[in-house]
Amino acid sequence: MVLGSGTSNGVPTLGKPYPATYLADPRNFRTRAALALLGPAGNVLVDCGPDMRSQLLREGIVDVEGVFITHTHADHVMGMDDLRSFCLKYKRSVPVYTSPDYQEDIRRIFSYAFREYPPGIWVPRLELLPVEPHHRLAGLEIKTFWLEHGPIPVLGLRVNDFAYLTDVSAIPDNVWPCLSGLETLVLDAVRLEPHPNHFHLESALSTAQKIGAKETYLTHLCDDYDHSVTNASLPSGIELAFDGLRVEL
Ligand SMILES: [Zn+2]
Repeated sequence: MVLGSGTSNGVPTLGKPYPATYLADPRNFRTRAALALLGPAGNVLVDCGPDMRSQLLREGIVDVEGVFITHTHADHVMGMDDLRSFCLKYKRSVPVYTSPDYQEDIRRIFSYAFREYPPGIWVPRLELLPVEPHHRLAGLEIKTFWLEHGPIPVLGLRVNDFAYLTDVSAIPDNVWPCLSGLETLVLDAVRLEPHPNHFHLESALSTAQKIGAKETYLTHLCDDYDHSVTNASLPSGIELAFDGLRVEL
């Protein structure tokens, strides 16, 4: 499930006026990019941005088995404090899978979560774990690979015939075989104009066509996109994602 389909500042963007027609479409309200993998034995989050709490409440998701962090930009990690509700619920740390560099960022950003406190003080307890090429989690077989987000790496994931590529500007040669035979692809297309660290609409469309999934949903969208207007102009098999979009795994 796409928890959030929006770019880093969310849509609508604070401080900007929008026409009533734009605001009339609930699909133009995009929270920060995140995904929930709803497995047969629990749920796994991909990213934990500032909207995580409201996203889980909105979708009625009450269990989280673990979290993959694709990279540590603010729009992907700033909801991690709210993971403490799950620490309280399960009386254990939440497993968080990311690269060693991003683990270091998380230790710095949420340094209080790694200190000792007297009993009764609750902070998020995060068990920082490495990303393996293959994870079995919540009853799901999750394959991982690293993509390029401008100058930094970003984690991509595949579950069965579904793949999620957020915050991506280039797909390294060794990753292409991991993207063959996809039924559904969710792919970054941040805006209409080219961007140094993201696919924009044109590069996302050509990449989607090259990957050749049966269905592609574009995500991490800014307010350049008016949902129904843009969708009407996209090639068949390619649509904009929206908050709450559900795809069968
Ligand atoms: Zn982002």
